[in-house]
Amino acid sequence: MSLGRREFFLKSVAWGAAVAAGRALRASAAEEGKAAKAELKISSQEGIVPGKSLREKVEKMEKWGFDGLEVGGGGLPGRVKEIQEALRGTKIKLSAICSGYEGVLISEDEKVRKQAADTMKEILAAAGELGSTGLICVPAFNGQTKLGNREARKVLLDVLPPLGDAAVKAGTRVLLEPLNRGEAFFLRQLADAASICRDAKHPGICMMGDFYHMNIEETCDLGAFISAGSYLHHVHLASRARNLPGQDERDFIAGFTGLKLIGYQDHASLECGVVGDRESEIPKAVEFLRRQWQEADVRKLCG
Ligand code: MG
Repeated sequence: MSLGRREFFLKSVAWGAAVAAGRALRASAAEEGKAAKAELKISSQEGIVPGKSLREKVEKMEKWGFDGLEVGGGGLPGRVKEIQEALRGTKIKLSAICSGYEGVLISEDEKVRKQAADTMKEILAAAGELGSTGLICVPAFNGQTKLGNREARKVLLDVLPPLGDAAVKAGTRVLLEPLNRGEAFFLRQLADAASICRDAKHPGICMMGDFYHMNIEETCDLGAFISAGSYLHHVHLASRARNLPGQDERDFIAGFTGLKLIGYQDHASLECGVVGDRESEIPKAVEFLRRQWQEADVRKLCG
């Protein structure tokens, strides 16, 4: 078999498997009544939207067709009232809480691990009060731990259960976020985060996916979200150059197809820069994302 034919054959086999997996997932999702429920709920981190106050930002987001707001975890316990008042009477819901704790969950130093766990618990309590899907957590950025991957994974699985308990008690979750290798060598792919969630076996330990990092680390957005499955409870949106979706060639259709297949019901939130005037560019990004979501259809991908 020539190399060209061999490559074609292997690709056809892989594609056939993806089609079969897609059909099986659609069938099982339909059985559970999930397929119809998948929806694109667009959120944004608070710093991206212009406005003098959080209330002004929320009102603008509602006008532009957003569904959710993501806030930073730093100082969250002292901001609960401000956030509740900013959201009051609008259709905007709080989505995820972005980090904001101190310490490092997989530090080689037990004191630094404890600092992370203690400060995360304080934020989790406030996150639950606000009805958030979860607190985003990066186990360690590059340079923050001396532990190798094997040891770090074991340590992570030791520190996660009490955090999961605190999260469930508060009515929220811990969300592991895979990053690209430039930022974190530990935890780069969604399937890896999902396997940690599987091993933690705790309803309070879940994960998220970020389109910017996924573009660097994943071979297939569709496959990555299928691997994440029911563990996935938040998504970050950004273009290839980490600007607004639609500001470069980054395509979201394969990823959105994956989200539809797993019956995804949480928010997808902007975490990106903006090229140009925010007042006109942000609404364009919302329209672009809605169009891409409409185009996402496994029947088109699988023929
Ligand atoms: Mg992110």
